[in-house]
Amino acid sequence: MVQYREVKKRHPDAILFFQVGDFYETFEDDAREISRILNIALTSRDRDSENPVPLAGVPVHAAETYISRLLGAGKTVVVCDQVEQPTAGKKLVRREVVDVVTPGTTLSPSTLDERENNFVAAAVVVRERCGFAMLDLSTGEFDAGENTLAAAENILAGYRFREAVVPRGGEEAKRLLSTGDGDCSFREIDDWRFGAEEGRRVLLEHFAVENLVCFGIDDEPLAAAAAGALLGWVGELRGSGLKHITGLRRFATSDTLFLDAETLRNLELFDPIRGGAVESTLVYHVDRTLTAPGARVLRSWLRHPSRAIAAIEARLAGIDALVSDQIALRALRGALGGFPDVERLLARISAEKAGPRELLALSDALGRAPQIADAVRGIDTAIVLDAASDLRLETGSYELIRRSIEPGSPPHLRDGGVVRRGFDERLDRLIDDSEGGKRWVAALQESERKRTGISSLKVGFNRVFGYYIEVSRAHADKVPGNYAARQTLVASQRYVTAELKEREQSILLAEARRVELEKTIFAGICRRIAAESATLQRIAAASAKLDVLAGLADLAIERHWCRPAVDDSNDLVIVGGRHPVVEALVDREFIPNDLVLRPDERQVIVITGPNMGGKSTFIRQAAIISILAHAGSFVPADRAEIGLMDRVFTRVGSSDNLAKGQSTFLVEMGETAKILHNCTSRSLVLLDEVGRGTSTLDGLSLAWAVTEFLIENERRRPKTLFATHYHELTRLADLYPGVHNMRVDVKEWGNRIIFLYRIVPGACDRSYGIHVAQLAGLPASVIRRAGAILDSLEEGEQLPGDAPAAARQPSLFDAPDPLRDRLLALDTDRVTPIDALRLLDELRRLALETRR
Ligand code: ATP
Repeated sequence: MVQYREVKKRHPDAILFFQVGDFYETFEDDAREISRILNIALTSRDRDSENPVPLAGVPVHAAETYISRLLGAGKTVVVCDQVEQPTAGKKLVRREVVDVVTPGTTLSPSTLDERENNFVAAAVVVRERCGFAMLDLSTGEFDAGENTLAAAENILAGYRFREAVVPRGGEEAKRLLSTGDGDCSFREIDDWRFGAEEGRRVLLEHFAVENLVCFGIDDEPLAAAAAGALLGWVGELRGSGLKHITGLRRFATSDTLFLDAETLRNLELFDPIRGGAVESTLVYHVDRTLTAPGARVLRSWLRHPSRAIAAIEARLAGIDALVSDQIALRALRGALGGFPDVERLLARISAEKAGPRELLALSDALGRAPQIADAVRGIDTAIVLDAASDLRLETGSYELIRRSIEPGSPPHLRDGGVVRRGFDERLDRLIDDSEGGKRWVAALQESERKRTGISSLKVGFNRVFGYYIEVSRAHADKVPGNYAARQTLVASQRYVTAELKEREQSILLAEARRVELEKTIFAGICRRIAAESATLQRIAAASAKLDVLAGLADLAIERHWCRPAVDDSNDLVIVGGRHPVVEALVDREFIPNDLVLRPDERQVIVITGPNMGGKSTFIRQAAIISILAHAGSFVPADRAEIGLMDRVFTRVGSSDNLAKGQSTFLVEMGETAKILHNCTSRSLVLLDEVGRGTSTLDGLSLAWAVTEFLIENERRRPKTLFATHYHELTRLADLYPGVHNMRVDVKEWGNRIIFLYRIVPGACDRSYGIHVAQLAGLPASVIRRAGAILDSLEEGEQLPGDAPAAARQPSLFDAPDPLRDRLLALDTDRVTPIDALRLLDELRRLALETRR
């Protein structure tokens, strides 16, 4: 316990796994905590003493699973192993901390999702600016940036961090990094480590560079501060194993089509909305990659679509070439199948956590890389040529592993027999010693049988007694004098001889030394491989890129997607557009639709029509097609012309945020406010049912005013698609030339309606709500009654039981005056919202006149 407490003192905030034989034990508070999280028994040590110590343990062989569950609960786990063999007697075994695992820095395949990045983040806020950094230790990807608070908040909200580092007491930084679901564990570190100079120093030292110009963050001190603090913290935690972090990318919003958290969620790009099925996400239908790094790259292209035409065109050209050469495409996908995850292998090798089989997997990958390049030999498109040439990069690692690692190696180094003969002379000698000894033992059985005349004599080995000679009782009288009895069994007796013990000692010694030496040699091999990180990462990136292109080409062929024309205009033209997810999921034929948005003539489109008619699908598909095009993918349409955009905004559906205690309407208005403050004339804005969360008149007025704002503000005139139930909004088209109406086409059949899912020009004059209610199965009597009430309302009558309109008006003024007269003369039930606005204007004028 003294030894335990000493280690624990150094890691007060972590759970300490303390090896005791075949178990990792935890004590005291740790024990209480893990028994609660893992639902395992809490017992105690020295139960009968006055102060029994709470204890909970897990078997060493199953530790990975338990550790991954603790990481899931946001815990850090410190693993302290016995580092020497226990000897007989009471001597204390030496123990050392061999690993510190945290949710954001784990390298264990069982705790990582192979198709997703696992970023640990850091952020620092100074006045109105924020520096941030994110590092995926499992792949070596490292990004940093600096921005205003609002922009940083938007950027960070698009990620899901399991762990983040902030300055002590940095509440604002914590807020920016919070993921909403409260899953992020924060590590608070001293402020000075977030200093710009300190950050710079850590980065310069790690990358061995003179300045930060090469990373583009030379004049972003807060980016350097966050990146340096993060790298410093990870370095301290892991001790070493950061060689595979070979570069730092500057995160700049101007380089990418920016998708905020609401847009990612509303369009269901990666996650289904509120517990839906994964089949409703875009990535599910678009991801045809065959390798884990490919899957991660695809996600990153979709999460951060490009705004550089050259980069987009390069990807499109690559896909195009593969679509045109399907033989190459098939060969490429054949070569990629089962290609190992070089990035994550490398991270584990660099951290010296890899086992022999992981090195073999790396050499398998390196051996296969040129075959991937061969598959696309006939394609002379730049992006493919570059990738192919990277795949042919020379590395020393391939040969090194082939020469050094036994092809049939066991999974763990501790099992021995990992390093090949001929690689290291000292090791060869030890192997000779142990094998020579074993051969001698193997020959002993024959020679002793001959010598003693006992034909059933056997030489065996067990862990307790070591080597022995076994003779059945029947032959006990023939046993020679130099045999010493060791163990008595029912039908036989086991003996040893002095010579056998001596050989045994030398075999065991040689084997123990061999395992030790193999560990040293293996670590050296890992270091040599890690030194080639940059090259190996280029090979990995090339295979991943080809994998993504091939997956997108495969998809384009099968689903009949087209190559979009992406240019610098500000137009959005889609002919025969489809929603890739709805199309795959509906059991009827999907009806393609056209859309034209141009900044001056058709800036805003108001779409009206019955519920379930396809409005949401139509506006979302416009956004999804735009995002896919910026990601460099073909798109689900017959033709698409897409001008570069800066952001896609969505205010879709009633995504409530009750967990945060905000009402649906408040959330809706918050999201709308964000759009109005941040959109530019290069943005695409989707508004679906804005204003629905409040009373009709409030909602309509807000929707109207929001739309006007988007039209009238010179600097912020985004292309806008507005799906709405407020038919009154269609009158905007009469007032503003840039506003156009489209509606959902339906066919009426008796008293039923048939959805055609065609979006056609024009405004819809009816709401069909009662028809939809009928479809939804409301009782016939309710439908009939609703129909009757609607008819009477449409004829200008009041609701049943209503008092006459005039009687409901409260008296506003005591003395008669023109304003009052005008107001009293009103029948508000008959005033349409538009007239209400005009009336307001009239009343204001009247009021001004009266004042005068
Ligand atoms: P609400 O106003 O109730 O939100 P909506 O008009 O937005 O409804 P959507 O949610 O877009 O309607 O579509 C409803 C359903 O209609 C979809 O789930 C899909 O099954 C089908 N649908 C939509 N568009 C099409 C289409 N183009 N072709 C075929 N089916 C479609």
